[in-house]
Amino acid sequence: MAYRISEADCISCGVCEPECPVECIFVEVDEKRKIDENACIDCGACADVCPVSCIAPV
Ligand code: SF4
Ligand code: SF4
Repeated sequence: MAYRISEADCISCGVCEPECPVECIFVEVDEKRKIDENACIDCGACADVCPVSCIAPV
């Protein structure tokens, strides 16, 4: 399992990035964030802080 960011809904705020304990959230086109699903440990910390709730378990 892993978490995934809905690219269409991400507002590029960056709040999720520093919350990840394994640093598997990186910057994509237009500053949108993307999760490396192979590295994600499924902790949910990013989803808890996203202001638009666009991060969810796959
Ligand atoms: S669920 Fe946890 S490990 Fe996975 S991307 Fe979010 S903060 Fe990082
Ligand atoms: S917290 Fe949500 S809206 Fe902000 S960069 Fe992360 S995924 Fe995008």
